[in-house]
Amino acid sequence: MKLKFIFLFLFWISLAGATTTPRSRTSPLHKQQYFTTTTTRTTRKVHLPISISSSPALPKITTTTTQPEDNKDEAEGIDCANTDKPYASIVTSSLRAGGAGGKETQICLNRAMMEDLRTRGVRFHLFSENQDRETFERLRQLQPGDAPGGVMGLYHDYDEMVGFLRAMQRTHPNLIRLYSLGETLGRREIMAIQITCEPQRIHPGRPHVKYVANIHGDEAVGREVLLHFVQDLTTRYTQRERRVVHLLNSTEIWLVPSVNPDGFEAGTRNNAADRDLNRDYPDQYTGTPRCIQAETRAMMEWSLRGPGAPFSLSLALHGGDLVVNYPFDGNADFRSGRASLSQDDAEFKHLALAYAQLNSEIRDNPRFRPDGITNGAEWYVLNGGSQDWNYLEAGCLELTVELSHRKFPEDTSLSDYWSKNREALLRFAEQVHDHGIWGYISDSQTGRPVTAAHVYISERSRGLHSPVDKYYAAYRHYLLEGDYTVIASAEGYLTESKRVKVSRQGTHRIDFRLVKQPAPSPQGYFSANKRTVSRDKLIPPVCI
Ligand SMILES: [Zn+2]
Repeated sequence: MKLKFIFLFLFWISLAGATTTPRSRTSPLHKQQYFTTTTTRTTRKVHLPISISSSPALPKITTTTTQPEDNKDEAEGIDCANTDKPYASIVTSSLRAGGAGGKETQICLNRAMMEDLRTRGVRFHLFSENQDRETFERLRQLQPGDAPGGVMGLYHDYDEMVGFLRAMQRTHPNLIRLYSLGETLGRREIMAIQITCEPQRIHPGRPHVKYVANIHGDEAVGREVLLHFVQDLTTRYTQRERRVVHLLNSTEIWLVPSVNPDGFEAGTRNNAADRDLNRDYPDQYTGTPRCIQAETRAMMEWSLRGPGAPFSLSLALHGGDLVVNYPFDGNADFRSGRASLSQDDAEFKHLALAYAQLNSEIRDNPRFRPDGITNGAEWYVLNGGSQDWNYLEAGCLELTVELSHRKFPEDTSLSDYWSKNREALLRFAEQVHDHGIWGYISDSQTGRPVTAAHVYISERSRGLHSPVDKYYAAYRHYLLEGDYTVIASAEGYLTESKRVKVSRQGTHRIDFRLVKQPAPSPQGYFSANKRTVSRDKLIPPVCI
């Protein structure tokens, strides 16, 4: 999850169709604040007396805002950690949920308030960071034979994860290849798994789809779900299941189950340098950091020029909520609750909906009505996140999926999470073949691949720019049905455009043969648009 809630008990009034809004949203919190809860199912209004600071039993709360517009990311967590009480009452924020402008109020409650809600028939969902931590600690202390599974029960610790992946590679050399994308501060390798038919060969034009998880070390469901995914794909391929055979014969699947293995081992959100890896990327609004974390650098290098690059589609798996979130996470005024849409918004929504529809928990999450999807900034703003960077700089459509309310649930529930996401994960990769265009870009004179080229849609010059691969200069551009002008551009070549009609189903091959420019032009596309899709782009050094 994107938020770092540091208080001990946070109750989320999910209300199953209800919204809670402060009576007065513009005034600061009063001694006695009342909230009006409207249950849409019954249209019953419930007044909840939420005492903020009048009760001597409750600590004084200093972080206050009731205006959604003021919800800066860092202001969203309540500073309950500075109180010596386990319970505090506060409205953290009125986050805008997706859909028809529904609001949600997150509050820390004491037991009396909880009882009050119960007697009024208001349903609420319990979040507890402590619960996740306790689960983590308990599993960490397991002794051999205490429980099924390994040293962390049914979770894989780092050594077990690497061992599992190596075993899979040994068993399925025709399907799986392992890579190390780099090393963390804690000297752990960031492992990537390539799954495709004949991974040792280059397959011209075969699209690449990636999945990354455990960017936040304490969000562990995605990591285990991806390990299940490895097992499932190989098993079904070996059993010659037609659908999976077709997918792996025509697609490269890439998985990074743990971007932040140090954080996982420590049970922390941040990496070993205590940095949030989903705030660490160059950002369209806050610029390029002077230096970045080793994990981020490894992911950027990989996405731009590593094995498998370029990628067409990407999923970043997080935990702490149930929603599919699409770019942009940032907006120009740094205010949450305001949608920040990209020029490829229709494509993003299409992909997000496809995932949410296959996971009923996400689809039916009342906080994100009606479909379980949201624009990132509309939910709340963050800068330096992975999905905006992937889209703008790596030419890859990336979505963020929040898989679970609990970040570190009981290990016995992991297979359940896997079942809930199995179909959606598979379907995500298949979609790369559903729509869009692909082809090769070559030099008109020599016929050689123009590996510095990229492709974009004229009507979306600030949208997705699809790079080509470094071997055959093949590109792939995910695009829904419509009429477009496709532009192929490369430094030193004349820009070429083609009209294309993308049909409702299937991809179209559009090749380009670029003509060399007679003389170098200082006013080329690159300087005009301040965008580079070159793989040679510089990545900030690692912070030491
Ligand atoms: Zn997260």
